[in-house]
Amino acid sequence: MKFATSPETVLERLTALRAHDAPTHGGHVLSYVYDSGEPELDRLAGEAIRAMQPVNGLDPTTFGSVAALERDLVGFTRDLLGGDDEVVGTVTSGGTESCLLAVKTARDAWLAAHGLRPGEARPRLVLPTTAHAAFRKAAHYFGLETDLVPVTATGEVTAAAVAERVSGPAAHDVALVVVSAPSYPHAALDPVADVAAVAADAGVPVHVDACIGGMALPFWPDLPDWDLRVPGVTSLSVDLHKYGYAPKGVSVLLQRGRDRQRGQYFATTRWPGYPVVNPTLLGSRSGGPLAAAWAIVQALGHEGFAELAGRSRRATDALRDAVGAVEGLRVVGDPVGPLLAVATDDAVPADRRVDPHRWADAATAHGWVLQAQPAYSQDDGTRLPHTTHLTVTPVTESVLGELVPALEAAADAVRGEPRPDATALLAALPAAGAPADGVPGADPGTLDAETAAGLLGALGLDASRLGDDGPGVGPMAPLLAAVEALPAPVAERLLTELLARLVEPRRP
Ligand SMILES: *Cc1c(COP(=O)(O)O)cnc(C)c1O
Repeated sequence: MKFATSPETVLERLTALRAHDAPTHGGHVLSYVYDSGEPELDRLAGEAIRAMQPVNGLDPTTFGSVAALERDLVGFTRDLLGGDDEVVGTVTSGGTESCLLAVKTARDAWLAAHGLRPGEARPRLVLPTTAHAAFRKAAHYFGLETDLVPVTATGEVTAAAVAERVSGPAAHDVALVVVSAPSYPHAALDPVADVAAVAADAGVPVHVDACIGGMALPFWPDLPDWDLRVPGVTSLSVDLHKYGYAPKGVSVLLQRGRDRQRGQYFATTRWPGYPVVNPTLLGSRSGGPLAAAWAIVQALGHEGFAELAGRSRRATDALRDAVGAVEGLRVVGDPVGPLLAVATDDAVPADRRVDPHRWADAATAHGWVLQAQPAYSQDDGTRLPHTTHLTVTPVTESVLGELVPALEAAADAVRGEPRPDATALLAALPAAGAPADGVPGADPGTLDAETAAGLLGALGLDASRLGDDGPGVGPMAPLLAAVEALPAPVAERLLTELLARLVEPRRP
């Protein structure tokens, strides 16, 4: 066959494109990527993917290997996370899908218990404000009301606050309570046992979101029970493409009780094609990430995961001490697991404070990518400060000698500089063609694509050139300040425009 472009050239082009990405290995990116620091594991994962490349995970009766690998992964995670024989599970494409399916299962169980069909009622999904956004997505997709429970200043929800939402008559319309082990924004470990006790009293199921912590916390010392050992926990999500070190595309959803879990499935024989029986949102699915995760689990075993978790833990402890000692910064709460959030230390005078987003931007200039998180106003009037997030992986331990001085130098470079003033930024906006009543009042429903792109341009974001100068969208401090100052629906509309335009075909 004659190719339009030779395979060699195609691969060269791919390599050239990848060269502009943020580095996935070496510990310089402290979010998104989970580097074990063991190249052998990456090679093994690559070979496993290649072996499974042509398989379709849609039908584990035709491709028995898919079922075998899935059994092993469910078994390994179930044992690790305290599940007994009543716990069954599914491999999904990622944490979001695991969370979506946990919510869908709970919704359908609630509807069935009330003799209702989807759309006839909107049950409540009770979740801490710090629960992963995937649960807001789940509520949006599956027609539930989110009932957001404020967390304390250290980032945990309290059982008492959850009790207010689920006890007595309030329990009747609650489909599910969510807790995190730990939360993504602040690494706070919610009091799983106390919340589960409250929920069990009310007859409400509980999902533990251990997407990020599930493969690491089992190896953390001195933690209270937080997993399937806790009675009343009905489901748990754990991502293998995080601290399972597998390539993206693999997570496990464990559910207690076969009958409960069957509600996760979609099955139909009512069409002229093959009978469809899907435990997941996808139909055809890759066996690649599944095989990679399986291979890594086989190779590492319990001992290997323990050793890698130990590296992450030592690195996290070292970073926590180092960042905590930087004048003007503080570590938020009492982080549990290999991640932490950093905020301004308001206890020092303003001219000694370090803004965490300016700090992240300065660290980027030194070659270290940290993740900026916005402030958040809770319904009880309290405000969670804006922070910078660091996900720590085993490889981090080997680069502490460069990372810590870089973080200290970044703080020195911006100490005393206040956060960018969003008012000034937003003042530039109406000139770019915002509706006459001004941006803050703008109705995102009426913001068309052209207007939205114009507003992005006024904020210095031109999607048609994004990526040309390397990874990222530029300084995060002004962008996050603007995102926070805009009404959320407008900010969401603008960011949607940015991401949508990013993948529009470009003319040379
Ligand atoms: C990463 C994460 C998710 C979502 O997982 P994806 O794999 O990104 O879809 C959900 N919950 C928590 C706590 C996470 O850290």
